[in-house]
Amino acid sequence: MPCSFIGAEMILAIITFLMMFITGSHTVDFCYDESHCDPYAWGDAFPSCHPILEEHHSPINLDHHMTRNESLEALHLDGFHAVHTGHWKLKNNGHSVVLEVGNGMSVSGGGLPGTYHTVQLHFHWGSLNTNGSEHTVDRHRYPMEMHIVNMKSSHPNLTSALDDPTGLAVLAFFIDLYYIENVHFGRISRLLPSIAYKGQTATVKPFPLIGLLPESHLSQYYRYHGSLTTPPCSQAVIWTMYEVPTYISWSQFEQFVTGIFSTEEDEEFVAHLHDNFRHIHPTFSRSVYASKDAKLLTATANHLYSPALSIFLLQLTLTVGIIYGL
Ligand SMILES: [Zn+2]
Repeated sequence: MPCSFIGAEMILAIITFLMMFITGSHTVDFCYDESHCDPYAWGDAFPSCHPILEEHHSPINLDHHMTRNESLEALHLDGFHAVHTGHWKLKNNGHSVVLEVGNGMSVSGGGLPGTYHTVQLHFHWGSLNTNGSEHTVDRHRYPMEMHIVNMKSSHPNLTSALDDPTGLAVLAFFIDLYYIENVHFGRISRLLPSIAYKGQTATVKPFPLIGLLPESHLSQYYRYHGSLTTPPCSQAVIWTMYEVPTYISWSQFEQFVTGIFSTEEDEEFVAHLHDNFRHIHPTFSRSVYASKDAKLLTATANHLYSPALSIFLLQLTLTVGIIYGL
């Protein structure tokens, strides 16, 4: 009987659908580029990502409404100058490029309530036509932003740290574009082709992390309390936003925006990973503090490159060089 056959088929479909949830084969994930899973929809699957009034989410816009705190001096970056033994792991997790660093580095001082062990660093970026930092300065984005994630050493694991409003300390660096290759970032960017697809990993020989940072400007920063910028968006982060950007070359930037995919290698449809930043959130009653040495730079005083303009200028330079045989 056709009707009973359709009925049996429907029951089978319902059972299969339910089994997907029971067995966990249907995993909840998030994304940046599709409306059903983009940052505005994260709250559907991750309730703690709902930006409820007066909750302290990140990222935020940085402007001149800051309070100077003379006690905020440069943080102690222990182990950042050393070459550590063992191996680090570079990974494409489908949302970012993550460098998992081993033991041996920690941050403290600068108003942090304790010592925080360095766990990993990762990046947020735009596309060939868009800037992609998460935080903004006077509403302007930088091309990229790097987050160095540190966990309070008194916590045994990340789950425990996320329940503590000061469980994590993230050091955030804007990344600007320049025509000269950054050899320190080269240790990461040259491995990007081998982790192009989600789930791929590469081994990295440890190097002094300080090379990635604007070393002579580390006492200039802003401080506020906020959240993870990815699900579960836990309000557990003390943010240290450095005001002087570090830099990479245009070609290194291009490797991020065109060479990394949010999909696995064997998927039928591949998708570039780009614009992996969460939208700006209100500060509400929060204070943003400027460190003792912060200059309170403005976006206009601090030139922001457009990646598209930068790449155009690079191509123009190369073309002129070819024409004149340089
Ligand atoms: Zn991040």
